[in-house]
Amino acid sequence: MVYSSKWLFQESQKCIPGGVNSPVRAFGSVGMEPIFIREAHGAHICDVDGRKYIDYVLSWGPMILGHAHPTVVEAIERAARAGTSYGAPTELELEMAGMICDAFPAIDKVRMVSSGTEAAMSAIRLARGYTGREKILKFAGCYHGHADSLLVKAGSGVATLGIPGSPGIPEALAALTMTVPYNDIDACEDTLKQHGHDVACLIVEPVAGNMGVVPPKPGFLESLSALSRDYGIVLIFDEVITGFRFNYGGFRSVAKIYPDLVCLGKIIGGGLPVGAFGGRKEIMDMLAPSGPVYQAGTLSGNPVAMAAGIATLKILHDHAEEYGKLNQRTSLLCSTLKKIFREKGIPVCINQVGSMFTIFFTDRDVHDFASANTSDLKMFSRYFQGMLTRNINLAPSQFEASFVSLAHTDDDIQKTLDACKKTTKEW
Ligand SMILES: *Cc1c(COP(=O)(O)O)cnc(C)c1O
Repeated sequence: MVYSSKWLFQESQKCIPGGVNSPVRAFGSVGMEPIFIREAHGAHICDVDGRKYIDYVLSWGPMILGHAHPTVVEAIERAARAGTSYGAPTELELEMAGMICDAFPAIDKVRMVSSGTEAAMSAIRLARGYTGREKILKFAGCYHGHADSLLVKAGSGVATLGIPGSPGIPEALAALTMTVPYNDIDACEDTLKQHGHDVACLIVEPVAGNMGVVPPKPGFLESLSALSRDYGIVLIFDEVITGFRFNYGGFRSVAKIYPDLVCLGKIIGGGLPVGAFGGRKEIMDMLAPSGPVYQAGTLSGNPVAMAAGIATLKILHDHAEEYGKLNQRTSLLCSTLKKIFREKGIPVCINQVGSMFTIFFTDRDVHDFASANTSDLKMFSRYFQGMLTRNINLAPSQFEASFVSLAHTDDDIQKTLDACKKTTKEW
């Protein structure tokens, strides 16, 4: 019996809220029903309806090697045959920790968890425990997982005390989260002048990926680093998306900025559920059992997940020169897309950093959440649907990043450009 996406979605809605296990998968913002996936290999993903797409979602970032890379699959098989979980330490965890510490100059010690959400949530608890302060400062449009303190809606334009971004989050907790616009160092400085000595941590995506791709302005991250030092605030770089995405290690556009803590996830799990947070020794040593800040996990450092992550990182390490080609290929894709839109007189702002990009349908420069919101969402939906019809699977929301993998070939890129030409031809 072969089930269609349509049927599977109908049935799923009966026993899974909204029919999906993570909201954006429902395709709600593009006014469609989700495609159900049967399998994926390399840069290509196949749905249960028998259609094959060139995939730019890549599981929202992790699959930088492409899907079902044979070496990673083999590592998973080997690990699984030796037992899938022990609840006791293994050599694999040491190997993974060593690889992460070597790749990140800012990380002396690292703790493994099972998701990016858990990494950010734990890093914030640790920062609060280390500083003895309760407030945190984040940037509008940055996503750090769905922990209560972090799901706080942005105030518009000015620094505001937090309002819960979801029912179920206590106002008293949200009030401890302050939000300022991304790339706005003045707003950050003003807020810290008032509250700086009560702020435990400043958490930021060094390249924002969750309001669509938004690069940091020159000097932005340096200024955050200086401000954190001045006020004794723990600086957290959330590199769940950016870690190992642009090069082997963290985002390195600016030399000599060392965050106090780094959050990781996505790529380091090679497609299995993994997160990590690490940083300066004296902060990390505050964690139980060496210190008083509690943090734990039944499946933390899971051997199968470690095997997948280690295999992925080894390939990236041994082929580090491939990053340059990947980034170039993505640049070529984006510059040609821009040309196609320009020739049709369709205003777009394409933000690209390395192998991640977002096409915003706006004539404005997108540098924060407010400018991202000037994008024409109807145009985006139309574009998304047109591309999907032509077998190109882009991220199904204006405010997400699309990714290119090492498995995407020049032929895949050319087919994507052809699909874009055909899609915009009808406009
Ligand atoms: C995806 C993401 C998270 C959350 O990770 P999950 O594994 O989905 O919990 C946190 N921060 C950033 C920057 C992310 O992109």
